Amino acid sequence: TEQTRKRLVIGNWKMHGQLTGNASLLDGLRTGAPAVSGCDLSVCVPFPYLDQARASLQDSVISWGAQDVSTHEQGAFTGEVSAGMLADFACQWVLVGHSERRTLHGETDRLVAAKANAALQAGLTPVVCVGETLAEQEAGKTEDVIARQLAPVLALGAQQVGRMVLAYEPVWAIGTGRTATPEQAQAVHAYIRSQLTGLGVPEVRVLYGGSVKASNAASLFAMPDIDGALVGGASLVAEEFLRIAAA
Ligand code: PGA
Repeated sequence: TEQTRKRLVIGNWKMHGQLTGNASLLDGLRTGAPAVSGCDLSVCVPFPYLDQARASLQDSVISWGAQDVSTHEQGAFTGEVSAGMLADFACQWVLVGHSERRTLHGETDRLVAAKANAALQAGLTPVVCVGETLAEQEAGKTEDVIARQLAPVLALGAQQVGRMVLAYEPVWAIGTGRTATPEQAQAVHAYIRSQLTGLGVPEVRVLYGGSVKASNAASLFAMPDIDGALVGGASLVAEEFLRIAAA
């Protein structure tokens, strides 16, 4: 079958960066990106640096986004950031349900779906992250976990899901240097694709995340249902990130 889904590589800076270092990283990305074709490129930066990302990238081929969003539009929600605020900074993307949010901040499957919906309402594309822990994988529960995490998201309906991006990030592969093998990742991506096809939205892009590097990107991207990557650690070095995108 023809590959019609455009490749997408998103950098997840997590809680890294400061003004000075960001400036050279963004510079390196802006300068190197035009040489990378056939692939959408983006960075999801900490909230305080959204304006810096916008100023640096607005005339480039690289888009930007945030790493979390509130379900509320505005109000007495100290510390929260709304989707409308992100839209004010011309964000195209926002990560929702990253495993670090689920684990460290108790985000539930329902909350993650509500965040995805809030992002869509403001015209942003949510990148909905799912993935199983090592214990769940070893217990053979991977598909059950993914199905449970996806259920409230898919319940939003084809029109909403059709405007999202999904990311499969096995928790045991995040920041560990232990990538899923391309075949392992493909099996889960095929399962996610079957869910999307069942809903009538097979064209939704599904990214892989978890220790993606320049050295393993090409073999992952060769898999039929892997449409790109969500990159943590390797997104903090411009040359490495661009090499992943070039793959
Ligand atoms: P990693 O992180 O590339 O550093 O493993 C990926 C992620 O958490 O999005």
